Amino acid sequence: MKHSRGPLCSIDVRERTAETEDIDDVLESYIGGRALGTKLAHERIPFDVDPLGADNRLFFATGPLQHSTMSFTGRTSATTVSPLTDGLLSSNAGGFVSRNFTGTGYSAVEITGASDELVVVHVTDDGVEFEAVPDLEGATVPETCEYLEDERDLGPEHTAVIGPAGENEVRFASVMTSEERAFGRGGLGAVLGSKNVKAITFDGDSTREVEIPAVQMEIHGEAAQAEHPMKAQGTTSVAEYANMVEALSSYYFDDLSFEGIDGISGDRVEEKKYKKGTCSSCAFACKLPTRDEESGLETEGPEFETLMAFGSNSGVDDIVDVMKSNKLCDVYGLDTISTGDTIAAYLKSEDEFGNVDLIHDLVEKIAHREGVGDQLAEGVDRIHDDLGVENWSVKGMEFAAHDGRTLNGQGLAFATSNRGADHMYAEFYPYEYPLVGEEDAFQKEGLEGKPPKLVELENLNAIKDSAIFCKFSRDFLSEERIETLLAADYDDLLALGGEVVAMERHFNNQRGFDRADDRLPYELPDFEQGLEEYYAERGWNDDGTVPDATVDGGSAAPADD
Ligand code: SF4
Repeated sequence: MKHSRGPLCSIDVRERTAETEDIDDVLESYIGGRALGTKLAHERIPFDVDPLGADNRLFFATGPLQHSTMSFTGRTSATTVSPLTDGLLSSNAGGFVSRNFTGTGYSAVEITGASDELVVVHVTDDGVEFEAVPDLEGATVPETCEYLEDERDLGPEHTAVIGPAGENEVRFASVMTSEERAFGRGGLGAVLGSKNVKAITFDGDSTREVEIPAVQMEIHGEAAQAEHPMKAQGTTSVAEYANMVEALSSYYFDDLSFEGIDGISGDRVEEKKYKKGTCSSCAFACKLPTRDEESGLETEGPEFETLMAFGSNSGVDDIVDVMKSNKLCDVYGLDTISTGDTIAAYLKSEDEFGNVDLIHDLVEKIAHREGVGDQLAEGVDRIHDDLGVENWSVKGMEFAAHDGRTLNGQGLAFATSNRGADHMYAEFYPYEYPLVGEEDAFQKEGLEGKPPKLVELENLNAIKDSAIFCKFSRDFLSEERIETLLAADYDDLLALGGEVVAMERHFNNQRGFDRADDRLPYELPDFEQGLEEYYAERGWNDDGTVPDATVDGGSAAPADD
């Protein structure tokens, strides 16, 4: 099996030390990316860790395909215990940092401890440097990127940065890379903020040979030639269809479609797109640099999920207003989905849907934990009672779009996901819209026959996150191609994906998660039966826990902090 190459760089920001550890034995079994990060986290993070304490660890990891020049591989993975969900969680980001990460020669970088002053950690193929940056306290993401470019000659393609939201430990703060791409979900930015790390930079020329077969050039060519709606509209190409089939959450989940869709549709986004946008080496180029000529506002996106959270779910029907929300989240370092949904909860409680000035003000207040922003910075799960609204979250994470009340398999997927209500964990929704061929499609309604497919998709995505393939490679990656690229049997890969999901679940079980957490804020037909089928397919216990014997090791040692 192909796997990433290079040792682990373990950085303690409290002690200002960096050690190199050979992890070839782990890499041979765990590919790279999410599988590698999950295995290391399961072994090295105490089960009872405080996500915002010094003993939590954050692992950045690359995969074998980041050593290639294939389309759909411009991504980097990160794993930690989330301050939003309180469970083990991986996130991955696109942009351009993946190749510079690989250039350091490490397969993974671990950040632990907590610094007594604000620092930037520079990781290179020649060692690690700690730079105290007290003047960057409170700096936005663009200000921090500008500093690193001017003072260190390290452009955004070298950097992973937090904004004020991360410094202020907003539970859904993101880590921003390449300035506008995000390790978005789960509050990784707050974890870096709790360690007083303003940024990590990656630089080096170290290349390690990972032989990638010729099929990568076929995929690259097809990605370049393909006529695909995502090339013009990115993920927003599905917006009108989602609205038509009533899968577009609106007005803090009170409605399933939005009468103002025309103002925030994929066509509106395409009208604002002013140039091509992509990630490292990717000929598919689905990103969305947008500009409003009238106001001069420039941003990247919004993607479909942001259209939902700051558009339909907040009662906003003007694309420029959503672009501004998107921009503010990028500037302050916030996950657009959790931020938009949390603001939508507040708008519902105040009967202020559509009040765009209030929305933009709340984004700033959340990032700085000012006034009501301090409360909202905790996320929907922790504040819904105070606001007097329903708890639209799973395991503490706010909902992505592709509403499960219409797409019932995606609903079950939101419930079982180890990282909560996130659409990319299993990605069931393409099979129910459907965005796949007729032979693979499912009816939207009901759960019949869906639990085994859900297990397969969760396992497959765990492998994609480990190799690391972008999920939007869906139409270009057959089973045979995955086997060829990773030099491994497809069923063996799915089994490894299942092991990754089980490790996450096992870690979370030790923190008290069980079946009671695999819950939705709405009823689905035959939900309990679907859940039982899912557990049975995985060989888990009926209470949603993983039998101990199926997962090796783990860090039962208590945390110091
Ligand atoms: S498909 Fe889009 S998001 Fe994925 S790597 Fe290519 S440009 Fe980036």
